[in-house]
Amino acid sequence: MSEKKLTVILPREKAVSSATLVFASEAEAAEILPKLTEQGSAAAVVSDPEKWRDIPSMMEEVLTVFGEQAADFTRLYLIGGNSLSELAWTVAGAYSRVLAGCCIDGGAEHLVPVRDAKFLPIRAYAGEKQERFSAQQLIRSLRTIGSEWADFVEEEFLSSDALTWLFSQTKETQYEVHWLKPGLWSIEAGAIESFYLIEGEEKALLVDTGMNQGPVLPLVRSLTKLPVELALTHAHGDHMLHVDEFDKVYCSPREGQLPMEFLHAMMPGVSIDFTKYIPVEEGDVIDLGGVKVEVLAAYGHTPGSVVFVDHAHRCLFSGDAFGSGTGVLMAIPGTMNVSDLLESVKHFLTYQETLKDYIWYGGHRCQEFGEQKHGEYYNPLCFEVLEDFVVLCEKLLNHDETLFCEPGTNSWVTETVYTVSYQKAAMWVVKSKIC
Ligand SMILES: [Zn+2]
Ligand SMILES: [Zn+2]
Repeated sequence: MSEKKLTVILPREKAVSSATLVFASEAEAAEILPKLTEQGSAAAVVSDPEKWRDIPSMMEEVLTVFGEQAADFTRLYLIGGNSLSELAWTVAGAYSRVLAGCCIDGGAEHLVPVRDAKFLPIRAYAGEKQERFSAQQLIRSLRTIGSEWADFVEEEFLSSDALTWLFSQTKETQYEVHWLKPGLWSIEAGAIESFYLIEGEEKALLVDTGMNQGPVLPLVRSLTKLPVELALTHAHGDHMLHVDEFDKVYCSPREGQLPMEFLHAMMPGVSIDFTKYIPVEEGDVIDLGGVKVEVLAAYGHTPGSVVFVDHAHRCLFSGDAFGSGTGVLMAIPGTMNVSDLLESVKHFLTYQETLKDYIWYGGHRCQEFGEQKHGEYYNPLCFEVLEDFVVLCEKLLNHDETLFCEPGTNSWVTETVYTVSYQKAAMWVVKSKIC
């Protein structure tokens, strides 16, 4: 690990409630920082970006130092002073999935990276320094491509009103909606969950719900006028928090084997009643009219994890069954044994020929790019990942000790959690499940 180049400035009289990355000269930072700590925000200042090799390595350090302060990653902000507004806009675009809001004083030399900030709440100010594209032009450009959260503000930079606005932004209420192709959307909730809307001719099917605050149905209603049913890949809180908003819910009855105490802890207030859901199992077909969605078993992560295969759009939705790029979680209450996962993966591999060129959509698409790492990592789900899972499971069952080099913990189990991997396949696992 390289030596740290960043320091975090902590609020003096308040607990840390959020974290803000500040791109500013030292003189600008001297004015900005007291305003942030007053709001309970931990702050890291970059005045000399050339100290880092590139933006990903800088951001990796930023996220690491904020992580060490146990900062709330749903409330991560960016402030760009006039002297570094170009860099602030570039990072706002590249890291819009991570940031909850930003305020930037000035414009940018390059337009294209800015347009990736379409879903990020932004307030931009004129600034004194002249750039090729003014802040006002950049905001107009974002609004042209559909942003509803970008504003040009004609007042003084970082007024108390602006700070109140900035620190009220949270990933827990933000959605990104992506139109993938006619009749198919992906919806990214907060910082980490992905769910999907499929439209047939007669009805629409939502695959999972994410776990943002507030209802999800109004958003879905804004996308389709057809009746909407819900299909659950599995019964974890981050996939079914909004189940109560739907009348017709498809779910494998095997999810009833999950410990109820654990499920209630994961989603307080949600009425979880597996007897009320329409049971689905391998081979069932949900017909949306012109679009048939087939159910395939994919147990392991949970006893009733299923994959929904959309033959019209030639894609499949796999929830957490095989992870989403960083690994499958086998270290929480109710997960099955590694031998079950191996059996399940081998079974799924029998569809390799039939589903050869189908696109896979996992439950946490951001993990295709690694967790909080934004370098060159890219590991989308596909059958090759499953082939590596077979080897990984077999190595675990043969007690290959070389795998257990990364001991860790999580908040759900008392046992040591190991991160184990083989080529494209990875898993978080506890030793009691390796049988
Ligand atoms: Zn999940
Ligand atoms: Zn899960």
